[in-house]
Amino acid sequence: MYSMGKHLVFVGGGHAHLTSLKNLSDFISRGHRVTLISPSPYHYYSGMGPGMLGGSYQPWDVHFHIEKLATDRGATFIQDRVVTFDPLAHRLFLQSGRDVQYDVVSFNTGSTVPVEALTKEPHDNVIAVKPVVNLLRARNAIAKGSQEGRAFNFAVIGGGAAGVEISGNLWRLLQEQRGNGRIVLIAGERLMPSAPDKVRRLAVESLGGRDIRILEGKIVESIERGMVTLNDQTTIDFDIAFVATGVRPASMFLDSGIPTGPDGGMLVNARLQSVAHSDVFGGGDCISLEGHNLAKVGVYAVRQSSILLCNLLATLEGDEMMTFTPQAHYLLIFNMGNGKGIFWKRSRVFQGRLAYLLKNYLDRRFMKAFQVSGEHDVKSDTIE
Ligand SMILES: Cc1cc2nc3c(=O)[nH]c(=O)nc-3n(C[C@H](O)[C@H](O)[C@H](O)COP(=O)(O)OP(=O)(O)OC[C@H]3O[C@@H](n4cnc5c(N)ncnc54)[C@H](O)[C@@H]3O)c2cc1C
Repeated sequence: MYSMGKHLVFVGGGHAHLTSLKNLSDFISRGHRVTLISPSPYHYYSGMGPGMLGGSYQPWDVHFHIEKLATDRGATFIQDRVVTFDPLAHRLFLQSGRDVQYDVVSFNTGSTVPVEALTKEPHDNVIAVKPVVNLLRARNAIAKGSQEGRAFNFAVIGGGAAGVEISGNLWRLLQEQRGNGRIVLIAGERLMPSAPDKVRRLAVESLGGRDIRILEGKIVESIERGMVTLNDQTTIDFDIAFVATGVRPASMFLDSGIPTGPDGGMLVNARLQSVAHSDVFGGGDCISLEGHNLAKVGVYAVRQSSILLCNLLATLEGDEMMTFTPQAHYLLIFNMGNGKGIFWKRSRVFQGRLAYLLKNYLDRRFMKAFQVSGEHDVKSDTIE
């Protein structure tokens, strides 16, 4: 049957869009027009972000050149940010003031750390752990400071997996740079509250054994210039603070009036399709899957990636769609920054060099699958 070409727009080139972007010819060869909108030509893989901060990885090991990935395959790239959209008028509104009309749209805009809940104004030395490129900025600034002989007091705020990995890799960065500094991890009620006791114990021993101070039972109330105030009104001075207090989707979905889940993510059915608009899809941290309360982990975004390719194509061509069933158990390996990892899957937990090597192998294999745009040809620390 003859099908008229339609306009498919990808908003954000995150983990859940990589399979579609790599296979754009599936859309374009059928006569469809494709556009990718992203604030940066690069997307950083979060799983290797803490390792990049610590110096185990270089920026080009960790990013995808999504602009090239898209344009090499015949798509248009718009370097901009979608601020809101009108699902009835099929229109996206961009930060630059421009708007873009779509027939089918897919969102993979991730999530952000709500730093503004803790500090009245943005500060250069208060760094959200997402977007992951922030960790590269921090690395460059700390390396420069260490070379100038500066000592750093670091405060890491948030005791989840990200806070733990950041603390361990800051330690590694200081070792690498022969820098001086103190690291305090302010964990909230408990370090890694949703992990089994053994994971918690291994993380406490690993960090504590390297003189990283872990504060449990203390919650950060506010951050001012160079000072954190805790709920017991004690204060901690810092030169650089990392905020890892959890993530939530941007307010774009709430603003657009599209149905959302409890955290403001776009509410989608098992086909990863908005429950109200059949031409709107999404994946990764920015969606809320009907009937589930999924953790914000990249594992899901990556699994959704091939479902989105299939279902976007099916929507454009009128074919059968696939459904996404979140796996009940997934593997997590935490990079502790000392060449060791903590492995956790179901009740199996262990720590050591082997866990780190396995994570490194799996992460590099994932990168290799989607680094098809000459990422290793230009080796530069410059941030775009
Ligand atoms: C330090 C750290 C370490 C982590 N390690 C792991 C791990 O080892 N394993 C794991 O499973 N999970 C890990 N996570 C969780 C993981 O980061 C997220 O679950 C994952 O990034 C979700 O992928 P995503 O593609 O949905 O979002 P993102 O990775 O955030 O990608 C979203 C993309 O959308 C773009 N974008 C954002 N807003 C807009 C907009 N308005 N318009 C257009 N484009 C936009 C961004 O530039 C970005 O490229 C970690 C998180 C952190 C913070």
